[in-house]
Amino acid sequence: MKLDSRRVPVPLLALLLLSLFEFAYALPQNLAVPGGVAVIPIAPGETATYNNRPVMVIQDQEESFAIVGIPLSEKPGSHKIKTRTRVYEFTVLAKEYETQHLTIENKRQVNPLAEDLKRIRREQSEMDNAFTNFDTEIPPAFNFSLPVMGPVSSPFGLRRILNDQRRTPHSGLDIAADEGVPVIAPATGKVVVTGDYFFNGNTVLLDHGQGLISMYCHMSRIDVSRGDVVQEDDVLGAVGQTGRVTGPHLHWSVSLNNARVDPNLFLVD
Ligand SMILES: [Zn+2]
Repeated sequence: MKLDSRRVPVPLLALLLLSLFEFAYALPQNLAVPGGVAVIPIAPGETATYNNRPVMVIQDQEESFAIVGIPLSEKPGSHKIKTRTRVYEFTVLAKEYETQHLTIENKRQVNPLAEDLKRIRREQSEMDNAFTNFDTEIPPAFNFSLPVMGPVSSPFGLRRILNDQRRTPHSGLDIAADEGVPVIAPATGKVVVTGDYFFNGNTVLLDHGQGLISMYCHMSRIDVSRGDVVQEDDVLGAVGQTGRVTGPHLHWSVSLNNARVDPNLFLVD
């Protein structure tokens, strides 16, 4: 939340700052667009659903917020979350993402063979299982640091044209770095998937609790195993160029209630 101090009366500002400091954490940024996150105040002690799926709820002593991931495919307009006792409406604003044209030399990675499709489907279901998990035993950890330092080579949400063929939008953030640079956990999480995938190469998925899952792709090596609990800054593996890539980089996805959302909304300075 950005406060404009020129407009807010000083006592109110002090009150607002005080209430922010009551949280031992910063809430994700509220940006209700396709691929964004809606932060919705709700009555304390409630659970909430969006499109009939449970959503993350962060409770403080007196305040409670539903943290809702909005899919890139969601239509702008009025949407609702439901709690046991009431319905909360919120507005999803339109957002135009840019188009990116890429040339992939390995044609099989753009038009996979039948045998590849079998493998791709199996891998997709492994990832979907993780993305749809809603673990209430892991205390939600959502104040992220960057998993690797480097320039963003491809932002979240780009509409993608590969070898002149339209593909699904870019559901993560690409950070360029040299092969071998360590990839670190952005926050506490449990390793729920590791694998060598057709498109994503060496991949790790972390469960941060209540439907918040992060994914790390194209790594040269993986240093963690399924079931490991990692802390912020623990090494997950190293940057590489495995899977469908045009050069070494980390593809970082963040998923909330099974919606891939912009990882920037979870970064804390
Ligand atoms: Zn990517």
